[in-house]
Order: sequence, then C-alpha cells, then structure tokens
Amino acid sequence: MTPNPTQIQPLSATEILLGWSNQDQFALPYIELRFYCPCAGCVDEHTGQRTVDRSSISPEIRATDVRLIGRYAVQLTWSDGHDTGMYHYDRLWELCQKQGRKIKS
Ligand SMILES: [Zn+2]
Repeated sequence: MTPNPTQIQPLSATEILLGWSNQDQFALPYIELRFYCPCAGCVDEHTGQRTVDRSSISPEIRATDVRLIGRYAVQLTWSDGHDTGMYHYDRLWELCQKQGRKIKS
C-alpha cells in the first residue's frame, strides 16, 4: 500500500523534501517532478507520450506553492507559471522510488 505524504517542503535550491507516513524521506529534484507533470498539457492523452522536452525546463525550476487536493493528490505551482498538474500520492511515491534520493527510512 502506498503511504501518505506527511511532509512536502523545499530542501535546497534544486530539491524538494518528501516525507511519508512510513517514515521514509526522499529528496526529489524539482526538475524531475516538473518533467513528470501528469497534466494534459504535458502528456498526450492518447499515446501517453510526454510532450514536454526535458531540455526546455529551466534548471532553476522550483515549486512555488503546494496545495493538497482532498486526501489523494497535491497540486504544485511552478516558477514557470505552470500549475495544472495534480500529482496523485501513488505517483509521487513512484517518483520518489525511481528519481528520488532516500535520505531517511
Ligand atoms: Zn503539466
């Protein structure tokens, strides 16, 4: 079962800290989180292909706002103005596993 996030906050200029209900903590690069934005503007809904090029994302990208959506997702506002991505908890957990750096468990 996917744990719930208990902590979402800036860690450094390039990473966000994600803490989970099972005590795991991950550092996740903002740029990966932005790249994997699940919104319809970033993913082709028919093919599932990403329509955003990684190289088009500023290396200085960061989240400027985090909002909880119910008990299942978070909505992130990015420094490039993008704010339509709703990240489900299971998706965030998967990103932590694949792209994150575990800093505590
Ligand atoms: Zn998006």
